[in-house]
Amino acid sequence: MMGKTHALSGALAWLAAAPLLTNEDLLGKYAVDLSAKQLLAGAVVCAGAGLLPDIDHHNGRIANTYGPITKVFCKWVGKISGGHRHATHSILFAALMGVAMHLLAVHFVYGWWAALFVIVGFGLRGIGLDFEGKEPQSAIADCVLAGVAVYLMHGLDMSFAGYAVTLGCLAHVAGDCLTPKGCPVLWPIPWRIDVPLVPKTDGKVERWVVAPVLLLGVAILAMRSVLGDLGARWLTRG
Ligand SMILES: [Zn+2]
Repeated sequence: MMGKTHALSGALAWLAAAPLLTNEDLLGKYAVDLSAKQLLAGAVVCAGAGLLPDIDHHNGRIANTYGPITKVFCKWVGKISGGHRHATHSILFAALMGVAMHLLAVHFVYGWWAALFVIVGFGLRGIGLDFEGKEPQSAIADCVLAGVAVYLMHGLDMSFAGYAVTLGCLAHVAGDCLTPKGCPVLWPIPWRIDVPLVPKTDGKVERWVVAPVLLLGVAILAMRSVLGDLGARWLTRG
């Protein structure tokens, strides 16, 4: 799957799951409050986390995000995790990343800002923010934009970050399962799940069916959230 598709699927998963995550009857003390700003921040985090499982690919798009730093990092993750589309493309990885990001966001905010900087950078690179063949310029642009995003979100209560990161990773894994290679979803159990509805990355099905459907879904759910927020404000005013 293309980076854009993964980022879109992350944003869609977040917007679709938001009503469940805020439902106290369903989740009890694990439910979260989401203001309009937090909902938007969550969509950005989840879209960025939608690229995260590909940190096992040393030549992948996101490996170049912050130059040699991310390149070496991705190379090592690939070696340790068993190669591309192994451990990082599983439910276990998604859950562990979510727990780690939750702990950072709640207990060690500087660590969370650093993680957020990386996640947003991956997301920007994933959606295609780079200058063809100009790596230093691309890395600097990523740094600046990710820095702005962290600045805009630094005052927000991000105790929902764990949910956003887990959902983004799961959306990625689900997307990759639609390709012929599939993913070891239940890793360390080695079975690979594949439902090859998308025969080729960046092929016709992905470009003309999957990406437009995801985009439409994001637009509809974002609209629903905005209208719901306006409606709630109107009712409380009335
Ligand atoms: Zn992948």
